[in-house]
Amino acid sequence: MGNLREKKKQTNNSLCSVFQSVNMDESRSLAGYAESASSVGSNESVHTQGKVTRGTKPVLFPNSDIDGLLECPVCSNSMYPPIQQCPSGHTLCFECKSKVNNKCPICRKEIGDIRCLALEKLAVSLHLPCTYHHLGCEEIFPYYSKQKHEAQCIFRPYSCPHPGSDCSVTGDIPNLLAHLRENHKVDLQTGCTFNHRYVKQDPCSVDNVSWTLTLFNCFGHYFCLHFEAFRLGTEPVYMAFLRFMGEESDARKFGYCLEVGGDGRKLIWQGVPRSIRTHHRSIRDSHDGLIVQRSLALAFSGGDRKELKLRVTGRIWKEL
Ligand SMILES: [Zn+2]
Ligand SMILES: [Zn+2]
Ligand SMILES: [Zn+2]
Ligand SMILES: [Zn+2]
Repeated sequence: MGNLREKKKQTNNSLCSVFQSVNMDESRSLAGYAESASSVGSNESVHTQGKVTRGTKPVLFPNSDIDGLLECPVCSNSMYPPIQQCPSGHTLCFECKSKVNNKCPICRKEIGDIRCLALEKLAVSLHLPCTYHHLGCEEIFPYYSKQKHEAQCIFRPYSCPHPGSDCSVTGDIPNLLAHLRENHKVDLQTGCTFNHRYVKQDPCSVDNVSWTLTLFNCFGHYFCLHFEAFRLGTEPVYMAFLRFMGEESDARKFGYCLEVGGDGRKLIWQGVPRSIRTHHRSIRDSHDGLIVQRSLALAFSGGDRKELKLRVTGRIWKEL
């Protein structure tokens, strides 16, 4: 499949403190560091030649002649009203006009304010398959309601759930699993319980967001356990939460709990995993997970409070 795009991840382990997630049994460690995290989805569509008829309206597959007429020469997306045209009749999106400084990209003539009503009306008569039909979506929509569906289509590719750098890879779950393991060196564990130790040598520096990610395979699904350090106001905090590799509606069929403690004290969090459709940063910002303040985290760590050593145990279950 061609929609797996790779952008080199920016890892800089030398900058400062690095988290280590140590599996108690195997003492394997994962280390990660990121200055900022964002993942922007990028979608590509595979074009199939063809045309089928549904009722009386023609259904066009991308790349057919008429569909090509509705493709903007500047952004290559489908054009929506108000479709603009140059004095020679070349068409483009209204939004793209300023990108080409009001000069037609084909004949270089000045583009005035001519609207191409004929093309807009032609579009009304069209039914098009969802852009993600090559990924399994069989829905067909009137031209003007297709976009709304595609923004929510469950077949649209997922963005890479890795919290570090600005990975722009998108794909389906099997693709992303392979990508996470190969490109981000994320550990995959089997089973619905876990026992992790997060070690940080210099707990005083939380100037940049730090994180680790571990994958779990249980109940035939995949989950991402995030552990992040960030500032909540001026207070450095640590946060752990679980994401589900699938849709939100399926994520709600599961529950999870996390426990962290030491020195006779314990914090317990029970939650519902969130879909990887929701950005990890918005989950973090909504505090939907186990949050430990630094002073408490250091108390849990024992010792001389110079090193963070948090032991997080947890369990995932399926709701009946
Ligand atoms: Zn355009
Ligand atoms: Zn022109
Ligand atoms: Zn769809
Ligand atoms: Zn990635």
